[in-house]
Amino acid sequence: MKTVHHWIDGKSVEGTSGEFGPVTDPATGAVTTRVAFASAEEVDAAVAAAKAAYATWGGSSLAARTAVLFRYRALLDAHRDELAALITAEHGKVHSDALGEVARGLEIVELACGITTQLKGELSTEVSGRVDVASIRQPLGVVAGITPFNFPAMVPMWMFPLAVACGNTFVLKPSEKDPSPAIRLAELAAEAGLPDGVLNVVNGDRTAVDRLLEHPDVAAVSFVGSTPIARHIHTTASAHGKRVQALGGAKNHMLVLPDADLDAAADAAVSAAYGSAGERCMAISAVVAVGDTGDELVAKIRERAEKIKIGPGDDPTSEMGPLITRAHRDKVASYVHGAAAQGAEVVLDGTGFTVEGYEDGHWIGLSLLDKVPTSADAYREEIFGPVLCVLRAETYEEGVALINASPWGNGTAIFTRDGGAARRFQLEVEAGMVGVNVPIPVPVGYHSFGGWKHSLFGDHHVYGNDGVHFYTRGKVVTTRWPDPQDGGVDLGFPSHR
Ligand code: NAD
Repeated sequence: MKTVHHWIDGKSVEGTSGEFGPVTDPATGAVTTRVAFASAEEVDAAVAAAKAAYATWGGSSLAARTAVLFRYRALLDAHRDELAALITAEHGKVHSDALGEVARGLEIVELACGITTQLKGELSTEVSGRVDVASIRQPLGVVAGITPFNFPAMVPMWMFPLAVACGNTFVLKPSEKDPSPAIRLAELAAEAGLPDGVLNVVNGDRTAVDRLLEHPDVAAVSFVGSTPIARHIHTTASAHGKRVQALGGAKNHMLVLPDADLDAAADAAVSAAYGSAGERCMAISAVVAVGDTGDELVAKIRERAEKIKIGPGDDPTSEMGPLITRAHRDKVASYVHGAAAQGAEVVLDGTGFTVEGYEDGHWIGLSLLDKVPTSADAYREEIFGPVLCVLRAETYEEGVALINASPWGNGTAIFTRDGGAARRFQLEVEAGMVGVNVPIPVPVGYHSFGGWKHSLFGDHHVYGNDGVHFYTRGKVVTTRWPDPQDGGVDLGFPSHR
């Protein structure tokens, strides 16, 4: 059986804790790999390597950093297929979707290649007689990243390329459910010339995370995962004096107005609800049909959903793969089983589905629930599986009020031909990312990604300008070069005149 080790100080390091976790191929249900779980001491070794590397990397030139990043970009580009195959083997998503994940991660490496522009400071000359003021941004030191299972390559790439481009060194703790892509990303970074210790990967569970949260040499923590853990990370790391951004779970709504192109809306709903088997933080999990659109929209969604081919991720004809674990599959199924008793109409029930020849895989088919009451568990909780809830609203106002009452505020979308309604929605809806006739509005790399309310704890979104701000701190330098006529003691507060 394959073992996934840690990556510390530029090399693979075998775990010494004696603790391992199982990694499963979701399509077969077989345990294919074991992953080492780091002890607190092993985390300390990774942080020590990062701290030692920071002494040099933190003061390295922008030219040196970007030279590495450009080489890294080329290497990642050449290894897209290999990375996607690693993702599919442990996560289960279909190869085309895994390739999309790698491409979206690569986008942030490309952003980091342009750090020379983003790290430019500001200079004001002659703010007073012979006085200049410069604002500059400097790295923080050692930064930790803790990432979820659903994007085992992309979410780490949301973090470390920008962090190291800004001059920080990094310790990544990827999901223990699919750890191999993160290790491969670190190996390729070393091949690109990233100095030893600048990027480290420790595998593990809560023990490793909690050590990172309290470690005195970790300056900041980036987290992406579920809401309860995001809250724990934010509270604990903040209490230890660290800068924190903790992105949590989601329940993303799509509002469909009566004037929308219903075929386009149905295409979008099916793609965004069932893509990656619903295991996306930007999945559409609730459609709010306004006015009399509901029956026709549900019929169109159903017609499309019934045609989706489910199968192993490495089969090029598969459009949707299995879920990450059997326990998760059973939990997702429980929402569908309980829906009718809680007042929903079960239009499609995907539970009990299996794939011939892969009977032990973590399969579930597509489920569609209509007229779901807001009190139903399937609506109130994040399911993170291929279950789409449709709710009905009489008016635009009722629909927006429903969305705004949700405790989450990650992404949302409106489908309409009415520019005025779309503009109103952009301003009135309480979510961090909004799509207008776009179902998964995951922003491009040079804009930032982040939600509101229980979808993000902390002030900064990830990547884009927010990412650069998160991974740097500001300094303002006021300079005067003396002139013979200057001088003399002045106890007054400088008034800059
Ligand atoms: P998770 O919260 O279970 O795990 C995330 C990370 O936290 C993992 O590395 C895990 O090892 C660690 N962890 C788990 N339990 C912990 C504990 N008790 N103490 C300390 N660390 C712990 O999330 P997941 O199941 O891997 O991922 C799915 C979740 O992530 C969903 O809720 C999804 O919405 C969310 N997500 C959010 C975004 C976003 O951008 N907002 C993006 C992707 C995923």
